[in-house]
Amino acid sequence: SPSSFDDSVSGRVRVAIRLRPRNDEELVADADFADCVELQPELKRLKLRKNNWDSDTYEFDEVLTEFASQKRVYEVVAKPVVESVLDGYNGTVMAYGQTGTGKTYTLGRLGDEDTSARGIMVRAMEDILADICLETDSISVSYLQLYMETIQDLLNPANNNIAIIEDPKTGDVSLPGATLVEIRDQQSFLELLRLGEAHRFAANTKLNTESSRSHAILMVHVKKSVLGREAAFPNENADPYDSVNNYKPPVIRTGKLVLVDLAGSERIHKSGSEGHTLEEAKSINLSLSALGKCINALAENSSHVPVRDSKLTRLLRDSFGGTARTSLIVTIGPSPRHRAETTSTICFGQRAM
Ligand code: ADP
Ligand code: MG
Repeated sequence: SPSSFDDSVSGRVRVAIRLRPRNDEELVADADFADCVELQPELKRLKLRKNNWDSDTYEFDEVLTEFASQKRVYEVVAKPVVESVLDGYNGTVMAYGQTGTGKTYTLGRLGDEDTSARGIMVRAMEDILADICLETDSISVSYLQLYMETIQDLLNPANNNIAIIEDPKTGDVSLPGATLVEIRDQQSFLELLRLGEAHRFAANTKLNTESSRSHAILMVHVKKSVLGREAAFPNENADPYDSVNNYKPPVIRTGKLVLVDLAGSERIHKSGSEGHTLEEAKSINLSLSALGKCINALAENSSHVPVRDSKLTRLLRDSFGGTARTSLIVTIGPSPRHRAETTSTICFGQRAM
């Protein structure tokens, strides 16, 4: 049941693993071979085959098989985080895995053709829109790409080097240079996601790189007036003045939801890479390993979480650890040909446990 995921209260990152089904190519090429993993979802276990006789067993907070629906993945991985954002906390959902294993499918799928295919971004916005009152509350969104330690605005390509501002007292992170768009309905949110995707494609074409080499980051700011509904729709049951006629000002709750489609986790072979590709590889390795160190520190309840080591972790600083809720969804493919990459992906997820 999703509740076990829900109940863990420590600052540690909750980790789910999701296996993508075999694609057409794998159905043919791997026809004579078993998948490299065997899942035991009731036991929340994954067995990674070493050879025909032997396997290593790993445990996760949730194990999602190739049959898990998008709806179930949302409910297990993201819904508890969205609910805490609506309660006024910050939260993060990240997808980590090798290119082609389903990070974007899990997080960013729009589901135009089939609403059951909608991913976490769209479902999260649906839940947020259902919870808030548009007369008194607000939802605003920015959409960014982090590439080679530079933050680009996917809603306005002219903003191609956005600074991270950290409040030294509160630790709050803000990006004053990023476009912030107010969202009032699902349609305008879908248009914003499409616009961001188009700008991402254009920026990557210009730089001659692939989107799998950058992190895509959607930030959703929710501002809720807790007494807002009563203030907007006054009636005899919702008197803003109490019995002794003292005015009670509405309480404002703010929460931030950060959804991160991480760069592909595959190791780019530094040998043979040169110039641009080598710099790219270094920067991806830097940010993913910095993320791994922070996740590890949270798992060990360490008082020092090394957030300063990369832009990615600086950006997430106020959205994981502490009172924030964080979910990591680790995506893997079934092919025995990718066993080595799958193993290192699983090990990354294990560092959080
Ligand atoms: P990534 O973002 O990790 O590179 P994608 O999300 O683009 O990977 O997925 C690669 C391909 O696999 C896409 O064609 C996608 O539709 C398909 N795919 C991924 N996950 C699933 C899934 N759980 N069920 C069906 N198809 C999937
Ligand atoms: Mg992708």
